[in-house]
Amino acid sequence: MWRALLVVVLAGATGCANVAHRMLNRTVDRPPYEVSDEARAFHRTLTVVDLHADSLLWNRDLLAKSTYGHVDVPRMHEGGQAVQVFGLVTHFPFPPRLSGNRVRPDLVDTLARAQRWPRETHCSPFHRALHQARKLARFAERSNGGFRVIRTRGDLDALLEARARGETVVGGMLGLEGAHAFEGKLENLDRLYEAGLRVFGLAHFVDTDHGGSAHGTHKGGLTDLGRQAVARAGELGMVIDLAHSSPEVFRDVLAVAERPVIVSHTGVKATCCTVRNLSDDQIRAVAATGGVIGIGFFEYAVCSDCLADSIRAMRHVAGLVGAEHVALGSDWDGATTSIDCTGLPLVTQQLLESGFTRDEVRAIMGGNALRVLRAVLPD
Ligand SMILES: [Zn+2]
Repeated sequence: MWRALLVVVLAGATGCANVAHRMLNRTVDRPPYEVSDEARAFHRTLTVVDLHADSLLWNRDLLAKSTYGHVDVPRMHEGGQAVQVFGLVTHFPFPPRLSGNRVRPDLVDTLARAQRWPRETHCSPFHRALHQARKLARFAERSNGGFRVIRTRGDLDALLEARARGETVVGGMLGLEGAHAFEGKLENLDRLYEAGLRVFGLAHFVDTDHGGSAHGTHKGGLTDLGRQAVARAGELGMVIDLAHSSPEVFRDVLAVAERPVIVSHTGVKATCCTVRNLSDDQIRAVAATGGVIGIGFFEYAVCSDCLADSIRAMRHVAGLVGAEHVALGSDWDGATTSIDCTGLPLVTQQLLESGFTRDEVRAIMGGNALRVLRAVLPD
């Protein structure tokens, strides 16, 4: 990891951001994946949703099949995936720590310059978010109908109906990693909503003026600004995402949550005890809102890059609160080193082998996430 991060810095200096992307987003278990005919046939009947990928951080054309990274539209088709939530990453501390991170230096600033993003993105997390949102919209425009941005419940239903008719189409949604992207202005939440943002993750690696991060220095609760942002996001029909949030923010948001909340990409302390992972009480609290917990395919979430350990975390959540609260939260293209999205049939197979029923697997692979999106998204 450290070596890879040094490459990012070097990449910034040399303008070779692709080198960093290739190195950070390796795939240990390479495609093609061996999956039984039976599991593959069942997988084809599922509507698969993944709650978190950082693909927009990189200058990759998501309409072209890439030989590196984890998600693009052709590979989504291949993996039988219907919807991907794409995170807007606008800041990343260096050196990154699991706890005690400070704001500067900021690797995304370096990456934005290295990838020649528009000048206004260089010192502005807000403009970095907007730039990535526009990238996703442009992919949809250029896709000849093969890729849609999902903004409403109607968009979601239309996508699923088109797929049911046999059309080759997949959907993308926008999620935010960290309220620092609003730069202290509530109106910027509205501007990002207009740009398509529908999943509001309050925290990333540092504390913000909205509330604490699990990886921050103070790890405090929601501030007044954070409370206003959560309320406004609720009015607009955004899903609240507590991934990376401090335990205090977690508690404060759940105290006022009126609709299901999610933790888009995480692990659980019971199988991998790190500061970013959920305690059993937190799992119960999310389940009590009707929400879902997206289990990641990365080392900080499950303590290995082994898919079996992600399944183990899913089994823990299901055992505690029921399979209806388990979802996929890969963190693809965000320093994951597990499978790419063409490996989704393998996830289906391993869930079945681990003892989940077919109905439970259908729910985990996407049904649960769809339930929450339908409950929260605007009409
Ligand atoms: Zn993350």
